[in-house]
Amino acid sequence: MRALSQAGVTYISEDIVQVQIPLPYILNIVNVYLLRGPEGWTLLDTGLNNPAARSQWKSAMNALGISPADIEKIVLTHMHPDHFGMAGWWQRQTDEPIPLYLPETERAQAQVFYQRANSPLYHQWMLDCGMDQATVDDVEQAMLGTRDLTQPHPIQQCYLAAGARLRLGERVVRAIHAPGHSDGQFIFYDEEEGILFCGDHVLMKITPNIGSWPHSQADPLGRYLESLRDLSALPVRLALPGHRWLISDWSGRIEELLAHHDLRLRQTLEAIEMGRQTVYEIATRLFDLDRLTAHEWRFAMAEALAHLNYLSARGKITCDDAGVMRWQLA
Ligand SMILES: [Zn+2]
Repeated sequence: MRALSQAGVTYISEDIVQVQIPLPYILNIVNVYLLRGPEGWTLLDTGLNNPAARSQWKSAMNALGISPADIEKIVLTHMHPDHFGMAGWWQRQTDEPIPLYLPETERAQAQVFYQRANSPLYHQWMLDCGMDQATVDDVEQAMLGTRDLTQPHPIQQCYLAAGARLRLGERVVRAIHAPGHSDGQFIFYDEEEGILFCGDHVLMKITPNIGSWPHSQADPLGRYLESLRDLSALPVRLALPGHRWLISDWSGRIEELLAHHDLRLRQTLEAIEMGRQTVYEIATRLFDLDRLTAHEWRFAMAEALAHLNYLSARGKITCDDAGVMRWQLA
């Protein structure tokens, strides 16, 4: 296996390189992958477009001895800014835009999320969750800052369907729909070698954010837990995630994630047993909001709401949603 001296650029195998792109958040880094093939390199996910990320991409390409013209295509696991954000920048590094492939649901949701015209939707959602106006303003500023780091947006894009077989570098992989963290996320499975590019579906050390957002399909947590149970038996020798470490014990990590949500569901119910509450109030019981930034508050609230929606869909709690949502035992 080849070793590279460049920090954050690592050969996982002869044809797979992991590049760690810095993020301006506590999450710190997004892992993206370059796969070498007969027709060039495939880029899997991209990073957020800021000077530090562009500089890391330039260093990585220098270390590998390649240029943007060597990139055959870009494939995205999902539409979150740290994965989607530099796709448009990459397409502008060559005379003809590099072909970009992403799940169709993710493209549709990207259109909702990245359009500033839709900000009122999020504004009202945060108020309905019981956040105070000053906090909503802080969170909204942070959201606008993140959206700016996804500019410029892609010039053209192609859609992927679940189950599709596609080539990443020299590997043929199958696109598997893995909902929960985002509605339309795809993970890519190389059956021959048991390698899974698992996006943000399963992560080590941290638990993937499972949120109910204004644009989310119903019951994201229910769909996430079902997907984890389905995927647990998949023969995975090595999973390559969007953040943190590589995953060698696939089913073991899935067990831990299932147990984590089980505990959080119990904590959510215990919080509601104390009386009728808003999503924000419940989020303050589940998370140490004082230690979170405005950027992270909305994730905490969306995650609390995903657990509430799960319990509500199973008849354990109800919501009075005339104005600010208030949750109580059924
Ligand atoms: Zn994500």
